[in-house]
Amino acid sequence: MISKSSVITTLFIDLDDTLYPASSGVWSLIRQRIDRYMVERLNYPPDQVAAIRASLFQTYGTTMRGLQAIHQIDEADFLAFVHDVPVHEHLTPDRRLREVLSAYPQQKIILTNADTRHAQRVIQALELENLFQQIIDIRAIAPFCKPQEGAFTTALRLAHESDPAYCLVIDDAPRNLLAARQLGFHVALVAEPPVRPEPGFPAITRLSDLPAIFPCDHLERP
Ligand SMILES: [Mg+2]
Repeated sequence: MISKSSVITTLFIDLDDTLYPASSGVWSLIRQRIDRYMVERLNYPPDQVAAIRASLFQTYGTTMRGLQAIHQIDEADFLAFVHDVPVHEHLTPDRRLREVLSAYPQQKIILTNADTRHAQRVIQALELENLFQQIIDIRAIAPFCKPQEGAFTTALRLAHESDPAYCLVIDDAPRNLLAARQLGFHVALVAEPPVRPEPGFPAITRLSDLPAIFPCDHLERP
């Protein structure tokens, strides 16, 4: 539960596996496209690509930042290739989420390590258009990505916030939340069972359950 006395003016909401449930399978399709990119464009051995991807993700924050550092890949080409997945076949309009998010007076911002085009396709498939004041994507936070500190401080600046204590970061990745919490943000984890929430994070199964840990009546900053 986010403390009742906290005044929060901005919600930073992750995209993949947060705005929609991980069980939809969209992110695993993107992961497969990343593997394919590494095999087809960079000649990684197919049987090693999953392990190399995981290690790049660990070291550089995202596979893309790792491939940029090692191979100087073209960012636009990579982002278009990996997000070429049939989002609409896996996501359906989420009326409940629309209702829930609409009730929050805070500014709502998508903060994602994906790109804006993919974010817009997801938002369209879920019918959540006109709910978010900004999409802060991997390009906007360059050269950083979550969970790096620079990603969060850049997002704060782009959101016209000066203090992380007025912001709530919602994400499915515990490592992003750990980093955000260290910087002074409030955090909330979205985790579908059987994922066991990390201790210490307010956690919900679906984003539409947000009022259970963060009631809508938190006042805006006077
Ligand atoms: Mg995510």
